[in-house]
Amino acid sequence: MQTIAERLDIAHNAIKLAAKAAHRDYHSVQLLAVSKTKPVSDIHLAYKAGQRMFGENYVQEGVEKILHCQSLSGMEWHMIGPIQSNKTKLVAEHFDWVQSVDREKIARRLDAQRPESLPPLNICIQINIDDESSKSGVGLDQADTLMAAVESLPRLTLRGIMAIPKANASDEERAHSFARLQQLFSHAQERFPQVDTLSLGMSNDMTTAIQYGSTMVRLGTALFGSRDKKG
Ligand SMILES: *Cc1c(COP(=O)(O)O)cnc(C)c1O
Repeated sequence: MQTIAERLDIAHNAIKLAAKAAHRDYHSVQLLAVSKTKPVSDIHLAYKAGQRMFGENYVQEGVEKILHCQSLSGMEWHMIGPIQSNKTKLVAEHFDWVQSVDREKIARRLDAQRPESLPPLNICIQINIDDESSKSGVGLDQADTLMAAVESLPRLTLRGIMAIPKANASDEERAHSFARLQQLFSHAQERFPQVDTLSLGMSNDMTTAIQYGSTMVRLGTALFGSRDKKG
């Protein structure tokens, strides 16, 4: 069994290799540790090994962990799961980033509920790149409108886009989806200069995602091992 510290090391090396193969600077790809369903003790171990950015999918679970980790300085918490409108207040009060904004109503609530004492909430809009009915996210054709809406809200900072591609895609389908996201990201950067985040790639498709310009890979299984069904 490898330790979490060893797995983090392996992940960083994999990112380095993938970045090198894509002729990109290794530092242009950040690693988000997806700790959903995993105990706080795992987060502590990753923190001790130098990890600072963590992603959670479930609001209640995420907030509990954030409160548990308050004594650890420099933590950055990303909400990456679907958000119901009755949960936006908790999200706005506790997280640093929300990567799963997929409708204007949620953006407006997060903006209204972000406490004045905190910096603006960093936002990625989630794109449903493969038009899956089971998945959250806006279609590519609505991305521009949603980005403009987020951009106009004072307590939110638009940082980029996030996507979860279809699980059973062929290599070709996946490459096609990633290429379209890369293009959308590049258009968004032209339009909104502060946009710097293409959150793409998980444990099993990280290398391809880096090839297509990902600036943030979200790794769960590769760092913390497999999850039960829920996750
Ligand atoms: C669970 C999850 C991940 C991590 O997936 P792994 O395959 O375990 O690396 C990344 N992003 C999102 C949005 C997730 O829900």
